[in-house]
This record gives sequence, structure tokens and C-alpha cells, in this order.
Amino acid sequence: MKITGQCPLCVGPTRAAVLCAHCRRHLRQGHSPTDPLDPVVPVGASLITLGAFEGALRALVLRIKHSQDTRVAQWCGHQLARRSRGLPRPDAITYLPSQRVNRLKRGGDTAATVANALALNTGRPLHPMLSPPLGVHRRTRSGSERGKAQGFTLISQPVGRVWLVDDVLATGHSLRQAHDTLTAAGHRVEAWLVLARA
Ligand SMILES: [Zn+2]
Repeated sequence: MKITGQCPLCVGPTRAAVLCAHCRRHLRQGHSPTDPLDPVVPVGASLITLGAFEGALRALVLRIKHSQDTRVAQWCGHQLARRSRGLPRPDAITYLPSQRVNRLKRGGDTAATVANALALNTGRPLHPMLSPPLGVHRRTRSGSERGKAQGFTLISQPVGRVWLVDDVLATGHSLRQAHDTLTAAGHRVEAWLVLARA
């Protein structure tokens, strides 16, 4: 078989469309089935992830974050679409917008890039539904101010069943806030889809 390119993760030669067989095997090994009773995820919503935020998957996420590699993002969208095959398709896919200052620094919005790839891979429309909290740095705020500042503002969209995308799930605080904002507006958030779980 012909070598078609360079693996973006290990920079080795690859015959595959994106990641080399070695890196794909590492990613598969890192994946563990999601616990349907995971306490971080609200009751009634599913969690879809490609695995833990470590090893090859960590490198993959950082690759999208820092170089906005659309080939890798497409591959991740395809993997998330495969892992979510058992779920009914939503009316729309949306994502957690990053704060403007981060977006400018990185030159893009990781969650938006992944959500776009997922939309292309599932044939479901991508709708921005949330505006980021106003960008005063978190550490400069007191606890109560921080609570308020992290709230998302809603962008009006037809109400329906929604999938919510983010890059990494850590405490789940931001995802929960976004989830609650959407739910309060009448949307039904049926799944959280994240690349990795920290
Ligand atoms: Zn590789």
C-alpha cells in the first residue's frame, strides 16, 4: 500500500486518511464506555466522548486547539458521530463558545470547529445558540461575581432537541450552565458530546 501522508499526531508516515494505525490504536485503547448514570451529566442527557484527556487523545485535542487542524477536527467529528449512532439525531447541534480573548489568542474556537465537523458528519444543522460570558478574566473576580459572569446569553433559535458540544469536560460546570440556559429557553438537551474527559 502507498504512503499517503504524515500523521498529524506522531508525525510518522501513514497510509490512512488522517491518523496512522498506531495512533488510532492508542486512541481506541484510551476509550472506556460511558457510565449512563454519570453524576456530572444531567438526568435524561447522554454523554459521548472519545476518551480520557491523556496520551494520544490529549495530543489530538491540543492539535485542534492550537493549530486549528481541520483534517483532525473532521476526523474527530466522524468519531463522535460514530459513537453517537445509538442516539436519535437532534434538531440542531450547538457548542460552548469560548471567551473572545481566548478565541483571538488561539485563532479559533475549538468547540465550534468540532461541532461543525460533527454537523457535517451527521447531516444535522449547526446553530450557534449561546454567547460567551463577558470576558473579564476569571481570576480577577470574587466568587459571587464569577458565578454571574460565567452565565451564557441565549441566541434565539427555534426550540427543539439539541446536542451540546465542547472540547474537554473537566468539572462540567460550564456545560451545565449552558445546558441549563438552553433548557430554561425550552430546548431539550439530549446529549453532551466532548472530545475528552479530564
Ligand atoms: Zn500517528
